[in-house]
Amino acid sequence: MPLIYLYKLVVLGLLATVLLDGCKRGDPQTGSSQGNDTLKVVATVAPITSIVENVAGDKVALTGIVPEGVNSHTFEPTPSDSKLLSAADLIILNGLDLETPTLKLAEANKKKSASIFSLGDKTVQEGDYIYDFSFPREQGHPNPHLWLNPEYAMRFAILVRDELVRLDPKNKSAYEQNTSQFLKKLEALDAAIKESVATIPPQNRRLLTYHDSWPYFARRYGFQVIGAVQPSDFAEPSPKEMVRLIEQIRKEKVPAVFGSEVFPSPILEQIVREGKSQYVDQLRDDALPGKPGNPHHSYVGMMIENVRIMITALGGSVDGLYKLDPAPVAGTHADYRINS
Ligand SMILES: [Zn+2]
Repeated sequence: MPLIYLYKLVVLGLLATVLLDGCKRGDPQTGSSQGNDTLKVVATVAPITSIVENVAGDKVALTGIVPEGVNSHTFEPTPSDSKLLSAADLIILNGLDLETPTLKLAEANKKKSASIFSLGDKTVQEGDYIYDFSFPREQGHPNPHLWLNPEYAMRFAILVRDELVRLDPKNKSAYEQNTSQFLKKLEALDAAIKESVATIPPQNRRLLTYHDSWPYFARRYGFQVIGAVQPSDFAEPSPKEMVRLIEQIRKEKVPAVFGSEVFPSPILEQIVREGKSQYVDQLRDDALPGKPGNPHHSYVGMMIENVRIMITALGGSVDGLYKLDPAPVAGTHADYRINS
């Protein structure tokens, strides 16, 4: 055989070995830890994604569809999100009309077998709905911020656990174990919030906020929501409304008015200055603090941060919050989207 043919054979042989090797290396990935039978779950806002992550640990493939840092009330999913929704086995929403565009896209694109699971509708009855400043009864959409009440977050966790067990019984014990650990964390959070609120002078247990997220939290912990600034269309308040707000702030003598990180409002800052109060613009209801993988990038971390900011500004003490561990009970596994 001429040497050149021998050379070609050797090269071909080497090439075949490399290609086969490549295939072998690819195999474990395609049939991998998140295999074909891994449940695909889509949740909406980050705090709810975090609640699901606590319950599910690494047993599901979980994506949070609403990017952190966007207004979840006006969020419109993109056409590419329909792909994610059409692949999902379980789509978890807060409900109470928070995610109407996402719900519509999910209904139009979901697999026949997929379940759309609305936590809020299974947690509260219509009689428990709160209608208020930014969510007036005449518009027919109740205030949707249920998850900011840890008692409801506990209920959300139990509902998620039961639905995951139903759809994926082989991982029942993991779901049950994670949930019982998570519920202990939420009970400790609830107790620490009660303890901290008790240190606020009673006349200061009143909330005037920009974004109207706190009525269910307020009902649980004995705050009075005396107003919210943001109109129901999420625009800035009108000049007439601004004058009324300045008067209200002066009259009520609230120590602080709370803004929200997602809704920076120079107008509110000015109103509060003229009303001679303090403006604290760091509350958050649908974005978690820190980055995915940080221990405080979690539902519990978000609540600790909110309560710390709120209670300190109202003259209370938050010592009880420091003993809490915010980290997700089974680690970080969800795919969170961040608005950059
Ligand atoms: Zn909100």
